Amino acid sequence: MELNGTSLINGKAGKRGGRTFRAVNPINGEKLEPAFHAAADSEVEEAARLAAEAFVIYGRRSGKKRGEFLRLVAQELESCGEDLVKRATLETALPAGRIQSEIGRTCNQLYLFAQLVEEGSWVEARIDHANPERKPQPKPDVRSMYVPLGPVAVFGASNFPIAFSVAGGDTASALAAGNPVLVKAHPAHPGTSEIAGAAIARAVAKAGLPAGVFSLLFDDGVEVGKQLVKHPLVKAVGFTGSHAGGRALMDLAAARPEPIPVYAEMGSINPVFILPGAMKERREQIASGLHASVTLGAGQFCTKPGVVMLADDDNAQAFAAKLGELMAGTPSSALLTAGIHAAYCSGVSSRSGQVKVLGQGSAAQSGHAAAAVVFETDATAFATDPRLGVELFGPAALLVRYSKREELMSLARGLHGHLTATLHATEQDLREYADLVRLLTTKVGRLVLNGYPTGVEVCHAMVHGGPYPATSDGRSTSVGTHAIFRFARLVCWQGFPDAALPEELQEANPLGIWRMVDGQMGK
Ligand code: NAP
Repeated sequence: MELNGTSLINGKAGKRGGRTFRAVNPINGEKLEPAFHAAADSEVEEAARLAAEAFVIYGRRSGKKRGEFLRLVAQELESCGEDLVKRATLETALPAGRIQSEIGRTCNQLYLFAQLVEEGSWVEARIDHANPERKPQPKPDVRSMYVPLGPVAVFGASNFPIAFSVAGGDTASALAAGNPVLVKAHPAHPGTSEIAGAAIARAVAKAGLPAGVFSLLFDDGVEVGKQLVKHPLVKAVGFTGSHAGGRALMDLAAARPEPIPVYAEMGSINPVFILPGAMKERREQIASGLHASVTLGAGQFCTKPGVVMLADDDNAQAFAAKLGELMAGTPSSALLTAGIHAAYCSGVSSRSGQVKVLGQGSAAQSGHAAAAVVFETDATAFATDPRLGVELFGPAALLVRYSKREELMSLARGLHGHLTATLHATEQDLREYADLVRLLTTKVGRLVLNGYPTGVEVCHAMVHGGPYPATSDGRSTSVGTHAIFRFARLVCWQGFPDAALPEELQEANPLGIWRMVDGQMGK
C-alpha cells in the first residue's frame, strides 16, 4: 500500500508542507520512507470543528447503528491484512505473530463494544415514577441514563501499535459511547497509524456518517497534542504512555477555562509476591514463567512484572539463581524508539550502581538493542530508596528479599497505585496471608493469582486501571467494556412526557433493555 504521509481530516488526506519526520527501524536505526507531515494548527482546528458538528448526528445514532459502524471498522481493519502487518513489523521490530494477534485482539474489542451498544443496557437507565399523592411534597417523575460527552482526543501508545493506538481501546470505547474521535498518532509508527486510520475513515463513509466522526493527526512533538487537549470543543482525553506525558496532559486539561477529564494510563511496576508455600512447591516453574513475562515484547508492557517480593530463604535463593541464569541467556531485543532505548540504558546503568546485578544478557551493537537484566536488593533498601520503585520500561526486573512477615506487609503498605499485583500462593498461603490480599486490593486494579500480569484479556469484567500514579483516575479501566463509562455522563429528565424521552427511558421499554424501575431491576 502506498502511504501518503499526511493527517486524515474530513475523510481526506491533509496538507503537505510544514515540519516532517520519518519512522525509524528499531533493528538498524535506519529512517523509513515516506516523510510524514506534522498537522498544521489550522488542521487541528478544522478536525475539532468537524468533530463537534459530527457529534450532533453521531451522538444521537441508536446503539444498533453504532454497533453496525464498529463492526465495519473491525472488518476494514481485518481487510488491511499483510500491509498492516508488514508496516507495523518494520516500524516496531515486534514479530509478525505479535502484530497479527494485536489485530485480532483489536477487532475482537470492536466486536465486543458493538455487542454492548447493540444490546443497549450499558446506559444504566433508571426510572423513578411520579407520585402526585405523596405528602408533604408530590414526587416528580425522574429518569436518567448515560449519554456521550462529545469529541474525544486519543493519544496512540508506542508499545501497542494496533491495540492501544489509532483503532485501539480508547478509540473503540469513545466511539461506542457515541463520541467522535481525534487521534494524535504516536510518531514511532506513523505508517501503521495511517493504514489503521484509513480503515476507520472507510468505515465512516460506508456507514454514511459525517467524516468528522474520525480524524488522524500527525506530529513528532507535543504541539498538536497540546492544542487538542486545550481545544474548547474537545471534551475528554484518552492517553497511554509515560508518567511525565500523562501528568502534563492532566495538568493542561485541569488548567483549561472548562477543565475536562483525562484518562491517562501511565504504567506501573506490577509487584509480584511469591509466598513461601508456592516458592517451596514450584520455584523452577515460577522462575520460567516470570522470565517469559518480564521479557515478553522486550519488556515493553505496562503490565510487565517489574518488582518481585520474596522471602530470604534457601528456596528463594535457588529461585533467584535460576531467574538470573535465564536472564543471562536471553537474546538481545530491539526496543521501540530511541527515547525508550536511551531511558532503558540509563536506568539499567544507574540501577547497576545501586543494587546487585543477578543476571544480565548481552545486547547487539545495532539499532535500539537492549539486554535483559534482573537485579536484587533487600526490603530496607527498597523502602528507603524511591528510585528503586520507578518503572524501568524494558526487559528488567528487581527482586526484593524480606526477612520476616512484618517486613513483607510493610513493603506492601508502602506501595503506590499499580495496575496489577500478582500472588504466587498455595491455599495455605492464601489463608495465612489473607491480610496481604486485602491490603493489595487498595493498591491495584487487578489481582492475579498463580499467573502473570502480562496478557490483558479483553472482556466485560476486565479492569486495566489502578490508583494514581498508575492511572489518572483509579475508578476507571482502559480495557474491557467498563471503559465506555470514561466517555459518557449521566443526564436526568424530570417531568417529561413519554414521547419527548429517549427510547431507553420510555415507559414501554421499546428497546427491551435492562432498567431499574422504582428500585427493581427488570426488562
Ligand atoms: P510518551 O513520551 O508519554 O508519549 C506518548 C504520546 O504522548 C506521544 O504521542 C507524545 O508525543 C505525547 N506526549 C508526551 N508528552 C506530552 C506533552 N507534554 N504534551 C503533549 N503530548 C505529549 O510515551 P512513549 O513515547 O510511548 O514512551 C516513553 C516512555 O513512556 C517509556 O520509556 C515508558 O516509560 C513509558 N510508556 C508507558 C506505557 C504504558 O503502558 N503506560 C506505554 C508506553 C510507554 P511525542 O512523542 O510526539 O512527543
